[in-house]
Amino acid sequence: ETATPWHYTDAAAVAGALPARPKFSHKGTFGHALLLASSRGKMGAAVLAAGACLRGGVGLLTAHVPGCGYDIFQISQPEAMCLTDAQADFISELPDLKPYQAVGMGPGLGQAEAGVAVLRQLLEAAGKPTDKRPTPLPLVIDADALNLLGAHRELLDLLPENAVLTPHPKEFERLTEPARDDYHRLDLLRDFAQKHKCLVVLKGAYTCLATPTGELHFNSTGNAGMATGGSGDVLTGLMLALRAHAQLPPFEAVRLAVYAHGRAGDVAAAATGQAGLVAGDIVRHIGPALAELT
Ligand code: AMP
Ligand code: MG
Repeated sequence: ETATPWHYTDAAAVAGALPARPKFSHKGTFGHALLLASSRGKMGAAVLAAGACLRGGVGLLTAHVPGCGYDIFQISQPEAMCLTDAQADFISELPDLKPYQAVGMGPGLGQAEAGVAVLRQLLEAAGKPTDKRPTPLPLVIDADALNLLGAHRELLDLLPENAVLTPHPKEFERLTEPARDDYHRLDLLRDFAQKHKCLVVLKGAYTCLATPTGELHFNSTGNAGMATGGSGDVLTGLMLALRAHAQLPPFEAVRLAVYAHGRAGDVAAAATGQAGLVAGDIVRHIGPALAELT
């Protein structure tokens, strides 16, 4: 048994990690992201993730949502574009992926069986190189997309290299097995990231990021006020923005998103108190949290 190299993500680890926006940049410089999210009754997940993605500096954002979410989404996020699914209540189709530099799937998705085929198509398409894109399409997989993966584990073999998975402990258990204790869970986490060559973000206090090489990076930011509905959706949106950023390598983008999400939550909680914090407060503090890091 060799010791796991572990690391701590503090302010020094991410200082200067976000490239400054060049004077002559345009919206194409920062990527076009696609978000697949929400089902009836959970439109807030798409709205929160989209808000975080926009505040994370993405150039353009398109969300694909169930038909029932069109007005809600367009009114809540005027800066984003919106595609609607043929189904009113859940997502059953994968849009053409050509325009996008990164894709996020899962917040508020629900576990309708139609999601399995969409996820399979996404994983297959993301792994196939194209003329314009020699490396896999960056993916962020969260929430019910993780639960679908756990229920259809044959799909794990399709995960493209450096895909990002953002499970909380219960979602991670569905992907693997129940952990005997916290130490065993970290062993399972490291093994999973190495086996599937992906970046896995095990969320909670001291969120742990596992890399394909078996490193574990514990995050220093965040607070118990973030234990509230929608916090994880905000992380997914911010992660999506940073994975769409052409100048950020996969690991740096993921570590930065985890740190800045927690930092935004800490600054928000200083204003609202932990009990009063809601996920939208995290979204509103992403800009300042990122500005500290350039
Ligand atoms: P989810 O469970 O998907 O909504 O994700 C919750 C988000 O809030 C994750 O990014 C967690 O890391 C964060 N979070 C939840 N509880 C805490 C806590 N006690 N301390 C720090 N961060 C937390
Ligand atoms: Mg979640």
